[in-house]
Amino acid sequence: MHDYAKEATILYVEDEDDVRDGYSRSLTRVCKELYTAGDGREGLELYKLHSPDLVVSDINMPNMNGFEMVKAIKEINPDANIILTTAHSESAYFLEAIELQVEGYLLKPVQKKTLINIVKKLSKNVILEKENMEQKEILQHIIDSENSLSIVTDSQKASFASKSFLTLFKVSSIDELNEKFTSVLDIVDNNESTINKQNILESLGTGKTLYDFIQNIDDTKRVVVFKDENEKKKSFLVNISKISETKFLINLTDVTKMQKDQEATTKKAYTDSLTGIANRNKFEEVFEYEFNKTLRYKEPLSIALMDIDHFKLVNDNFGHLIGDEVLISISETVQQDVRASDFFARWGGEEFVIIFNNTDLKNASLSAEKFRKIVENLEHKSVGNVTISIGLTEYKDGDTTESMLKRADKALYEAKNSGRNCVKSIQ
Ligand code: GH3
Ligand code: MG
Ligand code: MG
Repeated sequence: MHDYAKEATILYVEDEDDVRDGYSRSLTRVCKELYTAGDGREGLELYKLHSPDLVVSDINMPNMNGFEMVKAIKEINPDANIILTTAHSESAYFLEAIELQVEGYLLKPVQKKTLINIVKKLSKNVILEKENMEQKEILQHIIDSENSLSIVTDSQKASFASKSFLTLFKVSSIDELNEKFTSVLDIVDNNESTINKQNILESLGTGKTLYDFIQNIDDTKRVVVFKDENEKKKSFLVNISKISETKFLINLTDVTKMQKDQEATTKKAYTDSLTGIANRNKFEEVFEYEFNKTLRYKEPLSIALMDIDHFKLVNDNFGHLIGDEVLISISETVQQDVRASDFFARWGGEEFVIIFNNTDLKNASLSAEKFRKIVENLEHKSVGNVTISIGLTEYKDGDTTESMLKRADKALYEAKNSGRNCVKSIQ
C-alpha cells in the first residue's frame, strides 16, 4: 500500500515538553517533515510559515489555546486538516471540537499507534486531494494555452472550460457558466448554424449522443456562430472528442478570419478587376449550372454574346484609359438593367455575355434589343456614343454549352457583317 504519510508535512503543537518530545519522535518517522510548537501562538506562526498538510494539537496551552489556534488556522484555510488531543473528557470540549469541524478528536493519553493510524489515514485524503488539484491545475494550464476554446461536458453540465471559453460567454468561472446556462445546449439555443439546441435535442431523442451528432455533420458545416464581447459575430469550427461514453471534450476554433479571407478570395476569383462585374470563370460556372437545369426541367435558355463595335478605334483615338472608362460605363449600365434571374459577365476584352434564364429566343431578343438601345444612347465623355453588336441563340435538343456558345458567336459574326449595332439570332 502506498504510504501517503511519507509525502505529508505535519505541525504538532503541545505545551508539555516530555509529551511533545515523545510523540515527535514517532511522528517524524512517519511523515515527510514535522514542525513542532510549544503553544498556540507559536503553532499559528508555524502554520502561516509552512502551510502543513496536517495539524495535531493539544487544547489546553498557554498564550493561545488549541481552539483559538484552530479558529485562526481555519480562517486562513477552511479546509485545513486538524486533529485535537485533550485530557478533558467533558462534553463541552467535544462539542466545540465538532463545531470547529476538526478531523480527529483524541483523548489523552493517546496511544501512539492510534495517532499514527489516524495521521496515515488523513494523509491519504490530503495527498490525493492535493494531487487531484494539481492535475486540475495542469489540465487548466494546458487547456488555456491552446488556441481553441475548450469545454468538457456530459451534454448537460460543463465540468471544465478554458479561460477563453468563459470569456466568450462573459462569465468568470465554470460555476457561473453553469448558472447562466441551465444546460450547455442552451449555449447554442437558436444558433444560426446546423449545430443548435433544437437539432441536437432531436438527435438525442433518437438515442444518439452529442458526439454522434457532431461527428455526423459535414466538416465544412461544423461551424457555430457566436457574438464576441464587442457584439461582433464570430464563426467557430467545432470539434468533439470522447473522454468517456458520457463525457466529451469540445474544441471551438475561431475561423472568422479564415472564412472572411476565403470569401474575399472567392469573390476576387469570380470578379473582373476592371469593371467589377462577374468574369469568365464565374460565367462558366453559372452557365454550366443553368445548362444542367435546362436539361433537367426542359425550361428554355438563351444566351447572348455582345461585342463593342470598332472599339479599337476608341483606343486609337482616345487612348487606352478612356477605352477602359467606356468599358466600365457600359458594364455598369447593362448590369443595372439585367433581371435578377439573368446573368451578365465580361467574356474578355470588349466582349460580354448574358444568360437569359427560363427565356425563349423571342423574349431574349426583346431584352437584347433593349440593351443594344441602352448602350447606343449612352453618352461617353469626349468619346460620344458607342454601339454594340449582339449574337443570340437558344438551347435546342442535343446542345452542349460549347455548341450553344459557338452558335451565339456565329450570330454575333452575322451582326457584325450586317453593319453592326444590331441583334442577330440563330435558332
Ligand atoms: P469590331 O467592331 O469588329 O468588334 O471591331 P473592334 O475594333 O471592336 O474589334 P477588335 O477585336 O479589332 O478590337 C478590340 C479592341 O478592344 C482591341 C483591344 O485593344 C481592345 N480592348 C480589349 N480589352 C480592352 C481593355 O481592357 N481595355 C481597353 N481600353 N481596350 C481593350
Ligand atoms: Mg471583339
Ligand atoms: Mg469589337
